[in-house]
Amino acid sequence: MKTRAAVVEMKDGPFVFRDIEMDAPRSGEIVVRVAATGICHTDAHIRSQGYETPLPFVLGHEGVGVVENVGSDVTTVAPGDRVILSFPSCGRCNHCLGGHPAYCDDNLRLSFGGARLDGSNAYHGVHGHFFGQSSFATYSIANERNTVKVADDVPLELLGPLGCGLQTGAGAVLNSLQVPTGASIVVLGAGAVGLAAVMAARVAGADPIVAVDIHDERLELARSLGATHVVNGKREDTRARILEITRRGANYIVDLTGSPKMLGMAVEALAPTGTAALVGAAHHGTQASIDMASLLNGRIVRGVVQGDAVPQLFIPKLIALYRAGKFPFDRLIRFYEFEDIERAFEDSKQGRTIKPVLRIAKH
Ligand SMILES: [Zn+2]
Ligand SMILES: [Zn+2]
Repeated sequence: MKTRAAVVEMKDGPFVFRDIEMDAPRSGEIVVRVAATGICHTDAHIRSQGYETPLPFVLGHEGVGVVENVGSDVTTVAPGDRVILSFPSCGRCNHCLGGHPAYCDDNLRLSFGGARLDGSNAYHGVHGHFFGQSSFATYSIANERNTVKVADDVPLELLGPLGCGLQTGAGAVLNSLQVPTGASIVVLGAGAVGLAAVMAARVAGADPIVAVDIHDERLELARSLGATHVVNGKREDTRARILEITRRGANYIVDLTGSPKMLGMAVEALAPTGTAALVGAAHHGTQASIDMASLLNGRIVRGVVQGDAVPQLFIPKLIALYRAGKFPFDRLIRFYEFEDIERAFEDSKQGRTIKPVLRIAKH
């Protein structure tokens, strides 16, 4: 069968629309007719080869759609089911077996290798299987492990960002940090992931919830989504404001900026026994300077990938919160037609759109 895909052919190159021949699904694989897909910073990061991958490559890793057909041994979904595609994992390593598939031993090869683990590739002439989905395309090959079946009562085209960005921010708060009621939390960076963290902090009953960003309109949005305080890091001394608002430092700080300076500051703005979670992506080899005296008194610095979620368990929870009006992530989304993929990337880069979602086909 054929899939029409937006292909990155060279570093920083434009998306080129191509009709690509795609093999039939193998055992455990699922062909999905893509309805929509979110755009996440990792797509831009790979387009500019911030992390080196094979090219040409079909990117896209926040896909949703309808199951078209399935390979042998697929039992959890059937043709016609509405599904969200999330991150891939092997299912066999210690982290997968221990309920932490985001830290799968094979996560880099499965997400960025451009092929299946055995080196084969269902896509002819281009690399595919990006995050086990390559969803900048009309059809996508996914796997039972990264496919989440969803109910019919929520608009499918909204749901793609739950598979990566929103799961990442909400999961950092609810799964990794398990922020308790009444704890203070600071979210550094009010993009899609940060705003998901703010909404999750409100669900957890955190107080105060402090959002930090350099754009006032994002801070206003953060306030309307649950932030009790906002700090404009361009105009204000972020560390001083955090210490003032939380009195003796924050119990939790979630850093989406990926900036070494911010991580160092975060450790200094923690209360004793507080935890700073690094969620924002940093290039390999990036060094941050941390005041060792600040790290004493039980303070913790840790990293978080994909909100430490088991997608089949966590995404339905986020949808339940959405239905209950407690996770209104639709307010972050702006839709674009598939052909307007370049504009969607540009708007995201310039900060004009918080979470772009491409409409690929009507269902
Ligand atoms: Zn992502
Ligand atoms: Zn694994």
